[in-house]
Amino acid sequence: MSLLERLAETHAASPAAARLKAALLFHGVSYDPCLAEAGVWAFPSHMPYQLQPGELSHNHETRFSIPQIVRLDDDTQFRLRVKRDSPFVVRPDASERRFVLHEGEEPITGLTFEPKLAWADALTADGTPMRSSGLVQHGDMLVLNVAPGCEYFVVPREGLSSPTREGLSSPTREGLSNKTENLSCTFCLYGVPDQRMDALGQKLYERGVPEATLARVAEAARHPETHARHLYLVGGSMLKMADEGERYLQIARHLAEAGLTDRYYVACGSGAITRHHMEALKDAGVRGACFNMEVWDPAQFARVCPGKNKVVGRDRWIAALEEAAEVFGRDHVMSAFVGGVELEGEGAMGSLEEALESNIAAGEFLIPRGVVPVYSMFWKVTGKTRDVEPTYSLELFLRLNEALAALRAKYDRKVNPEFFCRRCAYMELEPDYDFA
Ligand code: SF4
Repeated sequence: MSLLERLAETHAASPAAARLKAALLFHGVSYDPCLAEAGVWAFPSHMPYQLQPGELSHNHETRFSIPQIVRLDDDTQFRLRVKRDSPFVVRPDASERRFVLHEGEEPITGLTFEPKLAWADALTADGTPMRSSGLVQHGDMLVLNVAPGCEYFVVPREGLSSPTREGLSSPTREGLSNKTENLSCTFCLYGVPDQRMDALGQKLYERGVPEATLARVAEAARHPETHARHLYLVGGSMLKMADEGERYLQIARHLAEAGLTDRYYVACGSGAITRHHMEALKDAGVRGACFNMEVWDPAQFARVCPGKNKVVGRDRWIAALEEAAEVFGRDHVMSAFVGGVELEGEGAMGSLEEALESNIAAGEFLIPRGVVPVYSMFWKVTGKTRDVEPTYSLELFLRLNEALAALRAKYDRKVNPEFFCRRCAYMELEPDYDFA
């Protein structure tokens, strides 16, 4: 029996599209040279693919770009992951930029990859490549990040109240280790303060974003051929909620002046911020909010997200989500979670069932309060055992999604497709359950 046949039997409550996407997120696809060829025109993966022993080089290269996002014929999309032992493989079809997904020898569906769009190769008026302006694209969602460095990586040891950049001249995890402590989320790499900050003019512990940075990113988002509907604002966290709120407000007002809050559904993906700032953001044209809790269980929240726990606190974070539902409206608030992260590392939960119970408890609490939890599957990308499969299983992920979909149906709280849809959810299944 194939994997998909087995899942159809064991998870009949899940839509076929969601089962397939979950299986592909978990197992990936095995390597085929067509992935290297598609890497030339497709939106490229964050990390180049490194050929394994025994795989034929591509144009004499052993390391090259492969596509980042797969788009199936029914509009399901997911992040491409190459795993040598996967039962799935993508093979070329007869026509250009068309491919077929197989499980073993069995064809499953046609597909293509999300292409590089014209804006990514265009330049801003001052000659900056638009792809370096702080904008990336996932399907029909633009993600705007003009302050990527997260201060939770570099919390001054003398306390949170008077952080200063003085003496912190080398903003790297190692360079700051004597003067600061690292309270970053255990799974996170993308918030590391690094050279991206210099290119965007971000300074640690300073909330303001340079106007020139905002002008460039707004110019990129104004490009006529983004084919996007959603604009999601994200960035590294700050050590003061009020500062973080001010930073997002500055960004939102700039976008509003550029007409972008009319063109896109703009959502604020900050950390928890004050109600005052939520209201000001709404006045500026921001329509949704997503303050990511990452993990629900209180002890695991403190362990996995020590910065969020120490700087904001779990109760305050939840209160901010409830306030956001009042300010932005009940169909306009989400919180992202990393499914299975509570099972990873020292101090982890003891059993899969305990993790599942906790994940479902998040839905039982948040969904009736107008906050939709969205779960991505935990891909381990940090530490010595990176790329080793975490203990969270495919079956558990499907059981979690079935339970959360049932809760959304019970409380009539489907994911709002203006905010988050099948064309932008590439690591999560909620829109596939609600709309496949
Ligand atoms: S708050 Fe956590 S997940 Fe977000 S950027 Fe900082 S360390 Fe990473």
